[in-house]
Amino acid sequence: MKMIETIAARKIMNGPFIIRNLVNKGLNKAISKMLKMKSCIVLYKGISLLDNKTPIMVVMSGYTKDSSNTKTGPLIQLYILPINDKPSDTYKSGSSAVCGTCKYNGNNGCYVRWSHLTSLWNSARVQNPIDKSLAKELMKGLRVRVGAAGDPVAVPYEFWKDVLSSCESYTGYTHQWTDKNLSSAYKDMLMASVDSHSEKIRARAWGWNTFQVLDGEEPINKSTLCLATRDKVDQNGLPMSCASCMLCNGKGTKSIHVQLHGASNTLSKARKARHQHTTQASV
Ligand code: SF4
Repeated sequence: MKMIETIAARKIMNGPFIIRNLVNKGLNKAISKMLKMKSCIVLYKGISLLDNKTPIMVVMSGYTKDSSNTKTGPLIQLYILPINDKPSDTYKSGSSAVCGTCKYNGNNGCYVRWSHLTSLWNSARVQNPIDKSLAKELMKGLRVRVGAAGDPVAVPYEFWKDVLSSCESYTGYTHQWTDKNLSSAYKDMLMASVDSHSEKIRARAWGWNTFQVLDGEEPINKSTLCLATRDKVDQNGLPMSCASCMLCNGKGTKSIHVQLHGASNTLSKARKARHQHTTQASV
């Protein structure tokens, strides 16, 4: 660990993110080589807080090199996945283990490509979690996306607060904000994902920052259009991404919106799920 600490001590904590990201991920690569670590590693294993029975894990990727996701940019990606069942099977089954009561759960138009996670899951499920102090060294000075798949509320709040304490900043969302007992503690780290004006009004009244997906409607009240959907570049001349924005966390008072988008079959499933949810809510 001494050698790791020596390498980690060279990490850059200030200055332009583009340089920090390059240098710090390079140092992570050296640590990962030394410890013969995989490109995706496990940070946590435990029982899901969403159903209190399913073994789940937190998997980290993108800590030595940038993700190819241009919308999120070079964020470290943290996935919340089942351990025993294939993520795509869990999603299709509608199990609440990692996605809880999200209306898109159950093959209903989620934007996550669950079938693309099989090889990451296969590699991670047989690993033991790395030491938390090492996880913190790897995240030091970097930007993180909490919940590249799965809902962060499935994992204890205390774990997140501790493991994320060394990163520069993070983004995260939850659909579990409707369950006050389960999710209230996470208000200061996550955005409430909302899909209608009435959901937004309720979430805000309960003290959440909101990320609203609209379907053609105009936003209500004061709301900021997601910066990654604007035809803009960041201060480094790169297309605007979450990594250059980092607005989506529970801090401050924010209301962000985006228009529903995605592949046509995912879109139609999502529209159906939204419609069904609205109908049920009004009965
Ligand atoms: S508002 Fe910023 S952080 Fe949030 S989704 Fe859009 S680009 Fe990402």
